[in-house]
Amino acid sequence: MITLDDLANLIFPDVTETIADLELKYPPRNLPEGAMVTRFAPSPTGFLHTGSLFTSLIACRFAHQSGGVFFFRLEDTDTKREIKGSDVELLKQLDEFGVCPDEGPFGENGNTGAYGPYRQSDREMIYRTVVKEMIKKNLAYPCFMTTEELASLREFQEKNKLNPGYYGEYARDSFLTPEESYQKIKNNEPYIIRFRSHGDYHNKVKVHDLIRGDLELAENDQHIVILKSDGLPTYHFAHLCDDHFMRTTHITRGEEWLASLPIHVELFNSLGWEPPLYAHLPVIMKLDNGSKRKLSKRKDAEAAVSYFLEEGYPIEGFLEYLITIANSNFEEWRLKNMDADINDFKLSFDKMTLDGALFDIAKVKNICKERLARLNKDVFTERALAYGKLYQTKLADLINRDVDYFKQIINIEREKENPRKDYETFGQIYDLIAFFYHDLYLEKLNEPLVFNEKLVNDDIINVLKSYQKKMLLDGTEEEWFENLKKIAVECGFCDNMKEYKKNKDAYKGSIADVSEILRVSMSTRKNTPNPYWVLKILGEQEINDRINLIIKKLGA
Ligand code: GLU
Repeated sequence: MITLDDLANLIFPDVTETIADLELKYPPRNLPEGAMVTRFAPSPTGFLHTGSLFTSLIACRFAHQSGGVFFFRLEDTDTKREIKGSDVELLKQLDEFGVCPDEGPFGENGNTGAYGPYRQSDREMIYRTVVKEMIKKNLAYPCFMTTEELASLREFQEKNKLNPGYYGEYARDSFLTPEESYQKIKNNEPYIIRFRSHGDYHNKVKVHDLIRGDLELAENDQHIVILKSDGLPTYHFAHLCDDHFMRTTHITRGEEWLASLPIHVELFNSLGWEPPLYAHLPVIMKLDNGSKRKLSKRKDAEAAVSYFLEEGYPIEGFLEYLITIANSNFEEWRLKNMDADINDFKLSFDKMTLDGALFDIAKVKNICKERLARLNKDVFTERALAYGKLYQTKLADLINRDVDYFKQIINIEREKENPRKDYETFGQIYDLIAFFYHDLYLEKLNEPLVFNEKLVNDDIINVLKSYQKKMLLDGTEEEWFENLKKIAVECGFCDNMKEYKKNKDAYKGSIADVSEILRVSMSTRKNTPNPYWVLKILGEQEINDRINLIIKKLGA
């Protein structure tokens, strides 16, 4: 008589190890109490999605804040979707964001860590060993249903309003005897391997999610495929074996997996393995015509993290935004600890946002602006230069013309308690500061000047000429401003805003207009840092030259 053992040996003649051997090979990790083992398990689809950076950041932080281990596992069993070289690219981009795995498919032998290999395609023997034993224990069986047979089963179920799938009485091949299966394999009939579920869809199973708490979901009854016809495992089964033998303690993954939790719990229980703890993280969404949808690579540039690197968002600002999405108490913490390292904040599951989080680019920009303002001039310059070298050569060249001059410019009202917030990204710097450089200023002069239209050219010229006579750049900002007020009055402008508002017709304009005349003349822009500092950096000679150019352009 053919037994289950015979069947298992026929299917896996090459598998000589047992689950017990694997348990010895991958023993429980020797970590302090409370240390979490987490992982990032991306599919090799070619780029790092913003949502994946979010889940990996969270996994990394939980592991590291608890003194545990964060590893990277490439889930490359879907050979059709695989883009070669993705792992290298993913690891590189993670690294740029400081999300650094302790173990993974890298290093000298292509694997770092004692729980590898870290590519699922290299773990085939582990899956085969487990499946072999599952067949022996009658927890799994070969299924010979053809695509056509499965399609007509689905049709039948639809017509009769039955739950779709391979379960209960519809799991035809679960009723084959070992002998029947054995013969079919001997006859070269193609097959896959399915899990033998004992669940009933009408029952409820209690599952626990670290974010949502206790949940009652319908029990799994599907005899899911565990090994495909190409011999590779499906996600459900691979994650069971991998997270067990890699000794993951906490699975942090996208909330789209919550519905599969009953399958996963049943798989773990069937083998008598303790399941890890699960936290289903919010998926990052976008508002599109009033409805929420997932960030999509096809439609949204910001779906790929490379976008943020190319634009020059400071990574700590971007990471900080992601933590804001993750934990509702983060922003309060930040207000109390403006200069603290983000890693000092302790993430927790109970403060985690429940449902799909909306991606808010305006907020990302605000946070980045704040972070960039808080860098000292040397660090800011170093990072701007590094960004320029990688993504914007013209910026790198500009900085290298004269590093000290660049530092003076970007140091305007920096390095103080409430620093100026001029830049959201490193990518913006060039356009915002180009006017400080004589040749680039000349280029800008080709565009129309943006003086306030209510002013007549003669009045503008008058102000500029008066300023040329007394620049007062050596004094304090107050002295400079007092001087400017005098110039304003001499030229028929009002030096007091309140008074001006009451009696506009009596004046050519206000002190604010005088200040703007200088600003526009020096920069061709309406928005610049404090004009006092702009003027000081430009220096007398350059100011004179620029005023002369403007006067000429205004036609005097
Ligand atoms: N490869 C799966 C994905 O990319 C991993 C899910 C998980 O973390 O378990 O969605």
